[in-house]
Amino acid sequence: MKFAEVIVDVPTMQTDQPYSYKIPAELETIIVPGVRVRVPFGKSNRHVQGFVVGVSTKEPAFAYKEIAEAEDFTPVLNQELLALSDYMTESTFAFKITCLQTMLPAALKTTYEQYFLPTKAASEATRERFAKQSALKVADLRATPQWNEWLKLQTRGEIDVQYLPKKRGKIKQERHLICLLSATELQQIKTILPSNAHQQRALIDLLLTLESNKAYRVAELPLEGYQATLKQAEKKGWIRLEQREVYRTVNTETIPTTQALSLNAEQQLAYEQITQASRKQQETVFLLEGVTGSGKTEVYLQSIADVLKQGKTALMLVPEIALTPQMVTRFKARFGDQVAVLHSGLSVGEKYDEWRRIERCEAKIVVGARSAVFAPLENIGLIILDEEHESSYKQEENPRYHARDIALWRGRYHHCPVVLGSATPSLETRARAHKGRYQLLRLTERAQKQALPKVHLIDMTTEAIKSPNPNFSPALLQAIEQRLQRHEQMVLLLNQRGYSSFMMCRDCGYVVKCPNCDLSLTYHTHPNRLECHYCGHTEPVSYQCPNCHQAHLRYFGTGIQKIEEELQQLFPVARIVRMDADTTRRKGSYEKILKQFDQQQADILLGTQMVAKGLDFPNVTLVGVLNADTALNLPDFRASERTFQLLTQVSGRAGRGQKEGEVFVQTYNPSHYAIQLAQKQDYEAFFLHEMQMRHLNLYPPYVYTLRIVISHKEEAKAAKLAQQVAQKIRPLLTKEAIVLGPTPRSIARINQRYFYQIVIKYKNEPQLMTGLHQLLFNMQKLTQRGFHFFVDREPLQFI
Ligand code: ADP
Ligand code: ZN
Repeated sequence: MKFAEVIVDVPTMQTDQPYSYKIPAELETIIVPGVRVRVPFGKSNRHVQGFVVGVSTKEPAFAYKEIAEAEDFTPVLNQELLALSDYMTESTFAFKITCLQTMLPAALKTTYEQYFLPTKAASEATRERFAKQSALKVADLRATPQWNEWLKLQTRGEIDVQYLPKKRGKIKQERHLICLLSATELQQIKTILPSNAHQQRALIDLLLTLESNKAYRVAELPLEGYQATLKQAEKKGWIRLEQREVYRTVNTETIPTTQALSLNAEQQLAYEQITQASRKQQETVFLLEGVTGSGKTEVYLQSIADVLKQGKTALMLVPEIALTPQMVTRFKARFGDQVAVLHSGLSVGEKYDEWRRIERCEAKIVVGARSAVFAPLENIGLIILDEEHESSYKQEENPRYHARDIALWRGRYHHCPVVLGSATPSLETRARAHKGRYQLLRLTERAQKQALPKVHLIDMTTEAIKSPNPNFSPALLQAIEQRLQRHEQMVLLLNQRGYSSFMMCRDCGYVVKCPNCDLSLTYHTHPNRLECHYCGHTEPVSYQCPNCHQAHLRYFGTGIQKIEEELQQLFPVARIVRMDADTTRRKGSYEKILKQFDQQQADILLGTQMVAKGLDFPNVTLVGVLNADTALNLPDFRASERTFQLLTQVSGRAGRGQKEGEVFVQTYNPSHYAIQLAQKQDYEAFFLHEMQMRHLNLYPPYVYTLRIVISHKEEAKAAKLAQQVAQKIRPLLTKEAIVLGPTPRSIARINQRYFYQIVIKYKNEPQLMTGLHQLLFNMQKLTQRGFHFFVDREPLQFI
């Protein structure tokens, strides 16, 4: 008898402990770790889904039930990912089942239908079963007397299972041709063919150009009108014709291949260090700190090429926002169809097809955004996380994992190096490199020694009033006019992060800050007041500036649509394309906008943070930042870091080609160090300054942070539970730890729920993690009374 350890999916009664179930004899070959099953649960024995995480022959000590059904026929998660789920459960405070489900492609999470397909190993008799249809629905077969036969075929590898989201199209199958003869054999046949057998000769000539035993899509071969000849050829045993699954590849247009560029000295050094570590199976973590345009991507490409030479695979993560068609093209141009791409622009079916190519080891390189970190690659030789400072690597819902942590875990598992790349690394990462825990590799110059663009700071406290439009300084207007005349292109950034949530004086630039925390206060409409998110300090809204005593305090905000209209009025001839959440909602629209700009059908690309990253347009000679300050004034200790990063990144879009680039940064805080150092594009100086600030105020990387968020539809209930939780946590902590709050979140009411949060700053708290896990487990029953809560480790958002 065999038993399975099953993690069951029971909402509101979660446990991370597996339950033991008996495996029915006929399912013994199928039920292995990583397979999903349906099991009876609870008093009513209703069927719920579960994940098998272990199998043994040891009889469990407790009473056990029997597994009702296997949902999968082969594991959907391999051993590595199962082990990873333990780590995720521990480190993110999410439930095990949530972690397991997170690692699956969307197609396996939603409602899907399963189909059996014959494999290459299928016997003639098995093929017969599919004579009428290319695929059979598993659900229809389950109830038939032959069900056990089907299970056996599956075990023998004669059939395979395909998952399709319900009502999302069919498995795409097409006729393929496989040449069964060698070149010599084909030549021999050719010599004995009658001279009037034109089509057969032509076919042999074609076959001579193909690899034998490889499947080619008939539709892609020049074989129109050859139906009869193909049939004949199949009878004679030259070829085999068969229906095969074709993947829904997103982009079938062929991309011209590119060769490796010859690396400059700094690139070469980085390349050697990375490939050496990979060849020696060292788990080194590298920080590749390279200025914008320094050729980091070329280092990635060549390092990956070396990994492939070793017969291994590579994982390349980029933020969603940087996953531009440009980036994807660069990888496909170098590695062709060895690359699988995973991003949110794909349909569920397309993503699943890419996932399958990875699982079957057909794709050796995965390029993708956050969730691609779970790609089921085997034998990984290198993991790269580009733009490692990007906050989109952190998932803002359960499980609240950071892709960087997962990447580091997988690097250790595979004994391979991990490369973290950025022009503006996060303070946490850069500090680790400083301490020697990560190895620092630097690219200090642009790849072809182009100058970094010249950055002008525009003091809006004096300039805004001199202009016909307060959003554009005279200097920026003039620069735009100039570029229009020269037919050069521009990128304009309207930073929407933190828009209109803080109060600033129109005259002197003074921002209303918390007296205790030196963080800007957030403007709340409900009720009308200013509030600090760290310590809970509040004060009434006043329009009188305490600095210059004018009644000119305003909260800030103009929509990007309005800016576009204004810009068009100022420059009636300018061709403007706008890129923001609204204009990029439809599938493919992002690509379309970029293509339009790339083909110079537009002069100005106006956008939100989306335009700051990864774009490489040589004709862009001007970058304008309309509002550098908005992010600076967010009530978040990372406000300076984010502002510095954004300004440096967006500046890097200018002057990448032959023509020199110029950047205009409009700011109400021209003397702020983040803005000053971004002007110089001096990351190292910023790092040192910011580290002092963090040290002074005890923020990461000097401490760890953890946030607990509690919500309820009634504000008083949320507040009360938050108080109780804070009281239960204090005894778990040493005197060194600092507990802030509970305080209401700035947007206190979201979806009719009130949010309270507690923030803990700590260094070494041996009791905290287990204590919190226990506390959360005990609080679970409160969800039935309308409470929601979660724990966020190393939160990137405090608002
Ligand atoms: P980053 O990723 O650091 O911003 P990229 O990899 O996009 O930089 O490189 C910027 C530009 O420089 C690209 O157009 C790239 O083709 C080019 N480039 C990179 N390395 C070299 C090299 N060794 N020789 C010549 N051109 C290079
Ligand atoms: Zn405060």
